[in-house]
Amino acid sequence: MTKKERIETGWNFDNSYARLPKSFFSGLSPTPVRSPKLIILNHSLATSLGLNAEDLESDEGVAVLAGNQIPEGAFPLAQAYAGHQFGHFNRLGDGRALLLGEQITPLDERFDIHLKGSGRTPYSRRGDGRAALGPMLREYIISEAMHALGIATTRSLAVVTTGESIIRETELPGAILVRVAASHLRVGTFQYAAQWVTIEELQMLADYTLDRHYPGGDVAENRYLFLLEEVIKRQASLIAKWQLVGFIHGVMNTDNMTISGETIDYGPCAFMDTYDPETVFSSIDIQGRYAYGNQPYIGGWNLARLAESLLPLLHSDYAKSMEMAQNAILNFNKLYQSNWLAGMRAKLGIFNEEVQDQALIEDLLAIMQKYRADYTNTFRALTFDKLGDMALFETTEFAEWHVRWQERLGRQEESKASSHLLMRKSNPAIIPRNHRVEEALEAAAEHGDYSVMDRLLNVLSNPYAHSTEQEEYAALPEPSACPYQTYCGT
Ligand code: AMP
Ligand code: MG
Repeated sequence: MTKKERIETGWNFDNSYARLPKSFFSGLSPTPVRSPKLIILNHSLATSLGLNAEDLESDEGVAVLAGNQIPEGAFPLAQAYAGHQFGHFNRLGDGRALLLGEQITPLDERFDIHLKGSGRTPYSRRGDGRAALGPMLREYIISEAMHALGIATTRSLAVVTTGESIIRETELPGAILVRVAASHLRVGTFQYAAQWVTIEELQMLADYTLDRHYPGGDVAENRYLFLLEEVIKRQASLIAKWQLVGFIHGVMNTDNMTISGETIDYGPCAFMDTYDPETVFSSIDIQGRYAYGNQPYIGGWNLARLAESLLPLLHSDYAKSMEMAQNAILNFNKLYQSNWLAGMRAKLGIFNEEVQDQALIEDLLAIMQKYRADYTNTFRALTFDKLGDMALFETTEFAEWHVRWQERLGRQEESKASSHLLMRKSNPAIIPRNHRVEEALEAAAEHGDYSVMDRLLNVLSNPYAHSTEQEEYAALPEPSACPYQTYCGT
């Protein structure tokens, strides 16, 4: 690419990860694709990255998004990592993705630009290195919805079709998702380092991570303990937010948990309709390891794997390292619980704290579960005091609970109007409901009609607006004989 073009598009790479020891990655170029076509571009994200959207839409711009052309300053590489997949430890790595480089934005922030579906790498094992259009659009929709809900997440800059088919159960159109992330450092990156590189290199990775995400480490008494504690804080906050909106990640393997605290890997995720802690959507999660109600527990389990990986850095005395790690992990539960409780209080319009609040919340959830109430719509109805068309609201249990809740609201200084405002901000009008996402994907991937997806993206972009056009998106799916299922690695 010529210098003039680079300036027009705004690519501005500085590739710090590529300066780590070679054991952390394999440098290689994406496998070119036959005929790239831009399906969707995230204009506002492009602008915040310092990229010119119009230029990205040109043939040269799309060639970069598809991996057919490497912009000046990029250093494409596949990252090495490991991970516990459903509890089993495996050596992994980017098998169908590449880090193109780190874009430095006009505000001097650093973001990974990742191509997902860019071809085989040394870590591909038996996979084809490719991705299908449907799942890449699905990631685009749900990750952008999460961002709009105020939940830390990797973002989606673009989806490009490749003009090539890929073989899954059937032949599907191939696509590449351009993913943007604070970084792609994972719990599994540290597990890889603890197992397969030297302690000096593990320490380099930890120092690199501190520099990139947790600069406060420079003044900490023990910078590696600080790193562990900060990741624990971010994950406690993140997973609490998932629970508060009914998001089920679906594949919380340690390689799918970031060090930055962003949600990553939108393979089999889905939002819960009916409140039930045992909800699982992923077709391969037979045991319910990653069920909605299990997510906080799994979060703690994954962080314990991070703590283990950091043991050699925490202290020269192994017993002391263990003690530090254990204390940090024990704190995760407390942090998670307080984040969740604070979020639930807000969902119920409660400003101050009373010890009985937890029981008030849990009692509501228990009756929601008993009467199979829709999670999102219950809180919406409470927000607007529209206790109409849900079976839950007809019950005496609910009536009793409602009296307790109203009394509780009476025991704070804030007015009813302030409570209502807090609830509006804390309870989304809409979430990406599974049937709506499927409807959009079917129109797009099977009929080339992107209008359904565009409308959906539009209403999802402001989930707390409570606008009239969002109303129809709050409707539940028709009852179905087959429960909704999601699939990984597609
Ligand atoms: P995931 O389930 O998406 O977290 O992926 C787990 C691992 O499988 C990662 O190392 C991926 O890079 C790899 N993987 C998933 N799909 C493919 C594919 N189609 N080709 C090669 N590797 C893949
Ligand atoms: Mg993954």
